Amino acid sequence: MTSIAEHLRQIHEELPEGVKLVAVSKFHPIEALKQAYDAGQRIFGESRAQEISQKCHQMPEDVQWHFIGHLQTNKVRMLVREVSLIHSVDSLKLLEVINSEGAKINKVVNVLLQLYVAKETTKFGFSCSDCIDLVESGAIRKLPFINVCGVMGMATNTEDGSEIRKELKEIRCVYDVLKEKCFKDNPDFKEVSMGMSHDYKIAIEEGSTMVRIGTSIFGEREY
Ligand SMILES: *Cc1c(COP(=O)(O)O)cnc(C)c1O
Repeated sequence: MTSIAEHLRQIHEELPEGVKLVAVSKFHPIEALKQAYDAGQRIFGESRAQEISQKCHQMPEDVQWHFIGHLQTNKVRMLVREVSLIHSVDSLKLLEVINSEGAKINKVVNVLLQLYVAKETTKFGFSCSDCIDLVESGAIRKLPFINVCGVMGMATNTEDGSEIRKELKEIRCVYDVLKEKCFKDNPDFKEVSMGMSHDYKIAIEEGSTMVRIGTSIFGEREY
């Protein structure tokens, strides 16, 4: 058994039923993705539009590509056809651009709203209150090619488990508030994307439905 397959097997053993695994393959060569695919992995996460548009031609059709990186509006067009979920939507402007690019190819685009809960200024996303305000404003309902499927977030990169847990709880809490207030009747609004290699076990305990794991599957990235 290859080590990628073995890593996937170990992670699956720890995932409760219903928690999806996004294999974060950014910066890894296509051979690594193929090994994961052969081991049964179908959801791959990438953080650059260019990389998805290149890799998608080299992988089987049934791969689901998830975009997890910071997305610039001028890259949306390159991505919109291939992507099955954009995790990292962090502005109304970006939602509007995704909506109009989706309209051009008649595709309703699945997105998550990214929340900023970490203590690191390098991370992106809505503040919790801005996110709730935006959804409550009804502005997203005016975008017919947008399907909001949940929220995404990242905790601070720290050894402090209690800080990580606090931040991940906040993400789950915003999800619960939005579900209750605005998405009760939308069965697609069901995803809480949180948890990476170093914190996915805490994330699962705090109600993640989708973990995004790179290093623990593929090893260190070479930038
Ligand atoms: C790179 C990345 C991951 C995966 O991180 P690992 O520590 O390698 O598991 C998860 N989420 C996002 C948003 C990322 O950019």
